[in-house]
Amino acid sequence: MSRDMVELSDAKLRTRLDDTFVMLHAMLIAGSAEALARGDVKAADASDRARLALGESYLGISPHDRRKMIACTDRYLHLIARHALDLGFQPNVHIPPDEATAMRLLAADPRFRYATLRRATRRRRPWAGPLADMPRGWMIRFGPELMDDMQQVIDLGLRGFGIDQVKEKWGGLRVLFDDDPIDWTTGLERPARWMDLAGLMRELLDLYETLSTCTCIRCGSQYRVRASAGRWIEPVCRRCAHARATGRRGTPPAKSEWKRMRPLDCGEPLAAWADGNHARLLGDGRLRGLHIRTLLDRCDREQAGYADTGNGTPQSHDSDETQDRTTGRKNS
Ligand SMILES: [Zn+2]
Repeated sequence: MSRDMVELSDAKLRTRLDDTFVMLHAMLIAGSAEALARGDVKAADASDRARLALGESYLGISPHDRRKMIACTDRYLHLIARHALDLGFQPNVHIPPDEATAMRLLAADPRFRYATLRRATRRRRPWAGPLADMPRGWMIRFGPELMDDMQQVIDLGLRGFGIDQVKEKWGGLRVLFDDDPIDWTTGLERPARWMDLAGLMRELLDLYETLSTCTCIRCGSQYRVRASAGRWIEPVCRRCAHARATGRRGTPPAKSEWKRMRPLDCGEPLAAWADGNHARLLGDGRLRGLHIRTLLDRCDREQAGYADTGNGTPQSHDSDETQDRTTGRKNS
């Protein structure tokens, strides 16, 4: 372990531990997404289960045990180096990782530079620059997929599409775009076909908004996510709630604090709900292989702790955890 780690204050050490965790977490999300893209569900499950177990192990680290905090940071750094090779980082031969992975890791990087992420976002899709404004956890979890899916709708003939604003509101992702019946750059009325495609885009963004409401805004986890209590309604996972509260006060949050946070409403699985309520979008034969359907399905499985996919599943510490489900779904 390095000398400068030994000299770090407790607060800085906690920050470094948190930073390395989020980076490693993003790498495992990237590994899983890459496996899914290859159609290897087994490998994706293995990566996701390892990630859930990692989050559980973090909860066992006392913020006052310097030796353990240093040892865990050290271990995370070793794992980051190992996964970097798996994801295509070859420092000696300069082979870059694929673009989606690079974007996730840029967002997770503790030395995060907004301008760099925005440039990378524009490089992936020229119209997508404003999507760099989305919160870190969401960018890590589904940023590249959101851009690909939106591009599919644009390619159907949504000429002149432009994003006005990207923000978080009431714990959900909002992507606002100009769908006024009049195109004010030309003063002409937009054709019915254009308006129809804009409606399809709206529907796609609604699904991503639903997904965001059950995705940790800090790290991208969908396991044991609750809405934070108080002024800001934000979906956060238990680990991030723990890390945030610990950073604030130097002590781990009381269990009662987590219990005060709002468990997400238990309803039908997200994927089944989407099939029932967004059949027009999901059944559109022109849109082949939208990522959103797979993402919703994976979210359902993550909320269940991948319990149906084998052993190694993290166990809940609290009996009330099983109530976690999404909230803020729109009925359409
Ligand atoms: Zn989190």
